[in-house]
This record gives sequence, C-alpha cells and structure tokens, in this order.
Amino acid sequence: QDKHRYSGIVEDCCCDYETVDHLNEEVLHPLLQDLVKTPFFRYFKVKLWCNCPFWPDDGMCRLRDCSVCECPENEFPELFKKPYHHGLPSDDLKCQEGKPQAAVDRTLDSKAFRGWTETDNPWTYDDETDNSEMTYVNLQLNPERYTGYTGPSARRIWDAVYSENCPKYPAEELCQEEKILYKLISGLHSSISIHIASDYLLDEATNLVLRYPNRVQNLYFTFLFVLRAVTKAADYLEQAEYDTGNPTKDLKTHSLMRQLLYNPKLQAACPLPFDEAKLWKGQRGPELKQKIQAQFKNISALMDCVGCEKCRLWGKLQVLGLGTALKILFSVNGEDHSHQTLELQRNEVIALINLLNRLSESINLSMKWEQQLKNSMKEQ
Ligand code: FAD
Repeated sequence: QDKHRYSGIVEDCCCDYETVDHLNEEVLHPLLQDLVKTPFFRYFKVKLWCNCPFWPDDGMCRLRDCSVCECPENEFPELFKKPYHHGLPSDDLKCQEGKPQAAVDRTLDSKAFRGWTETDNPWTYDDETDNSEMTYVNLQLNPERYTGYTGPSARRIWDAVYSENCPKYPAEELCQEEKILYKLISGLHSSISIHIASDYLLDEATNLVLRYPNRVQNLYFTFLFVLRAVTKAADYLEQAEYDTGNPTKDLKTHSLMRQLLYNPKLQAACPLPFDEAKLWKGQRGPELKQKIQAQFKNISALMDCVGCEKCRLWGKLQVLGLGTALKILFSVNGEDHSHQTLELQRNEVIALINLLNRLSESINLSMKWEQQLKNSMKEQ
C-alpha cells in the first residue's frame, strides 16, 4: 500500500488526509455530484456584468455583457490538448461564442426562485436583492473550465486578492485567523487551477498545482472548512424547502441533502472537520473579526472585476459559498449579536453546496493525478 503524500492531520483541522480522501471518494463526491444536478442546485442567480468598483478603466470590463469566448483552437497550446479519446472532440475547443452550450445561459427567469429569505450576508459585498439586474444561470450548462482568461487582467485580480486583502506575511507573523483567510483563498485558487488543469495533460496539471504541496494542503483545508459549515447548519438545511415545482425531483433533493448532512460514515470518521470555536478568542477577537470581515468583503467585490464572464460566474458563486460558510461558522449562535439565528438566502445555499462540490471534485482529481504520477515514476 502506497503511503499518502500528505500524511497526518490537515493543518488547523481535525481529520487526516487519508480519511478525507477516503470519505470524499466513497461518500461525499458521489453524493455531491448527484445533488448539484438536481433542479434546486443547478440554477444560480447572479449579477453578471462587470460592476468593478476598483478599476473602472478595465478594458475587458467596460461593457455590460462583457464576455470572453472560449479560447480559439489555434490559441490552445498543442501540449494542453487532451488526447482525443479522453473527452471532448477538438471542435469543442473552438471559439464558442454564439453557441448556446457555451454562452452563459440566460433563458431562466425569476420563477426559478421562490421563497427563502433575503437577509444580508455580513461577509459579502453582493447586493443580490435587485431582481431586475439578475441573470438566472444553469450551472450544468456552464461548467468551470479552461477559458483562456489569463495575463494582466487575471493577474491583477489574484494580486489584489492576496496583496491588498490578505497579505502574504510569513506564516509565523500571521495570527491564526488571518492565516485562515489566506488558506481559504489559496485553497479556492488551487481548486480553480485544478479545474483549469483538468483540461490539460498530466504534465501541465503537475506544473500548475501538484508541484506546490502548500497549495494542495490549502485545498484540503478549505474543503474541511466548508464541510464543517454545511454540517453545522445541518438542522437548518434539513428543514429548508427545496421546492422547484417538481415534487418527485424535489423529494430526491431533500433525501440527498439528508444523506449528506447526517452521514454516519462522515460522523464516524470526521465528526468535526474544523473547530471554529478556537477562533476570535482573546481581547483582540471582535476587532480582528471585523477586520477580516471587511477584507473578505473586498475580495467578494473584486469578483466584479473578473474580465471573463464564465470565470466571473464561478468566482462569484464560490466566493459567495465561502462567505456563506463564514456566516454559518462565525455570525450566528451568540458570536455576533446582530445575527443570532441562522437565516440563509436560497442563493447562499446553492453557492455553498456547489462550492463544496467543486472542492470535492478538485480533491478527487488531485488524488488521481498523484496516483498517476506515482505509477509513472514506478515505471521509469
Ligand atoms: P495564476 O493562477 O493567475 O496565479 C497568480 C499567482 O498567484 C501565481 O504566480 C502564484 O504566485 C500565486 N498562486 C497561484 N496559485 C496559488 C495558490 N493556490 N495559493 C497561493 N498562491 C497561489 N481561468 C480559466 O481558464 N477558467 C476559469 O474558470 C477561471 N476562473 C477564474 C476566476 C477568478 C476569480 C480569477 C481571478 C481568475 C480565473 N481564471 C480562470 C484565470 C486563472 O485563475 C489564472 O489567473 C490564469 O490561468 C493564469 O494562471 P497563472 O499560471 O498565470 O497563475
């Protein structure tokens, strides 16, 4: 039996790498894959045009419906193309603008959304309450993947996320809470890179992600953090309405949610994926929390500056998912007097579960790539 490359407990968490891999592969990944296909979880409400508060001059962001089509085939580096039998025919890599399957789907309307509260999330910048500005997106038709969005525009966003909002101090100079914000963002960044790399060959995936153990470790951390938020909100999520007007499918959604929230294998192997009670202790606790909340809000606002429509869609969804996890873990149950009881928007629940699914997919992919790497090293 090969030893896991990352052994021991995931730093700042309560479960070890082997357990996470095993649980994810056996239980969580299959469940989440089914959940995100249900009518309730596949539609997301989002303000999609750029409304960038930081760089009004961004050429890619000036237009209301700015959109970058997928990379034309001749711009797609030869090495990165998948072998034909691995998946999509090469035609799929052509510029897809105008093709319904690649454009962000805008055929839904607000009827897809019913009920649920409109309460604010103190961790995010979005004001998603103005329904006239919203697009309803079918996430299954708009998968996160390689789009060709790169260069100064993309770099500027990541630089701002890291440098302005969660400075990269050496780990020992960071207090626990700031380190956690950095790790959450880095874990999300790894997950995005893994989804981009999944369109590449193994060599490229290694270059983008696997060469950096810290980034993979941060992915595991982010996964456990979000998983803890989901299980902490279990009672609320169990009682929520997953009504989309299709009783058979909605019953299935509810049943899948119950299997996720009260999973005996998860409870036995990793009952407390992350221990949020350890944070915000000490005199500086409340002040630090406000500071980090403001930093995360800025990160959320930066998503409006992402100059590629599909990347913006997934950036906004995943940052809202993280903001929802932060709200569940830190803004209810006496931690914050203005938010005593948990109330979630429908969109927050959709973002939270879709984020958990993306992280779960990334863990699954990175685990498989590690295995492929090991096998190819053995053969040499
Ligand atoms: P980048 O990924 O741009 O990284 C910039 C720098 O950040 C690196 O040089 C490194 O120093 C540091 N870094 C990288 N990873 C980590 C990490 N995990 N932890 C800590 N530091 C790190 N492109 C797509 O093709 N499809 C998408 O769906 C997509 N979504 C995006 C969503 C957002 C919000 C943003 C900002 C960008 C998105 N992009 C997407 C672009 C993509 O993330 C990269 O910016 C692009 O592929 C260029 O990659 P790069 O190799 O130059 O490094």
